[in-house]
Amino acid sequence: MHIAVCPGSFDPVTYGHLDIITRGAKIFDKVIVAVLINSKKNSLFSVEERVELLRQVTAELPNVEVDSFNGLLIDYMTERQAKVVIRGLRAVSDFEYEMQVASINKKLKDDVETFFMMTNNQYSFLSSSIVKEVAKYKASVGDLVPPVVEKALREKFAAL
Ligand code: ADP
Repeated sequence: MHIAVCPGSFDPVTYGHLDIITRGAKIFDKVIVAVLINSKKNSLFSVEERVELLRQVTAELPNVEVDSFNGLLIDYMTERQAKVVIRGLRAVSDFEYEMQVASINKKLKDDVETFFMMTNNQYSFLSSSIVKEVAKYKASVGDLVPPVVEKALREKFAAL
């Protein structure tokens, strides 16, 4: 069975992420979407909230599981017996960082492969940061995130 892990912050999940997850789920037997627990990064949503939103938006995809992990991705991969990392590439600017991460992961664990999927053109400028910026000023993010995420953003910014 080919298990792939799609790691990230997902703060919050966007249509760009969902596109990569959906396409990945057509190729691999199972895709584990793994939210990185990173106390250093300031996030808008808690890990639990991000996991819950991901679960809701991937509910129709039977071979997608949502989880969270702490520490090194490579250790999590071993624990889950996964051999493939899926990452999305948007612009050239993503490339350098992604290459660095993929190389270090390869060095740490040789039998793990990183698969890059090119973004769907319509999402090439879409990021969680942009979504948060737009939602903060109460502009519509309906084209960028699923309805449950839009609602969660509205509630989050209303409470802040
Ligand atoms: P990270 O903090 O690890 O960069 P993100 O949550 O921002 O995590 O992204 C997780 C993965 O989804 C990354 O591989 C990222 O490149 C990819 N991704 C994010 N937005 C898009 C998009 N609009 N199109 C394609 N891939 C994307």
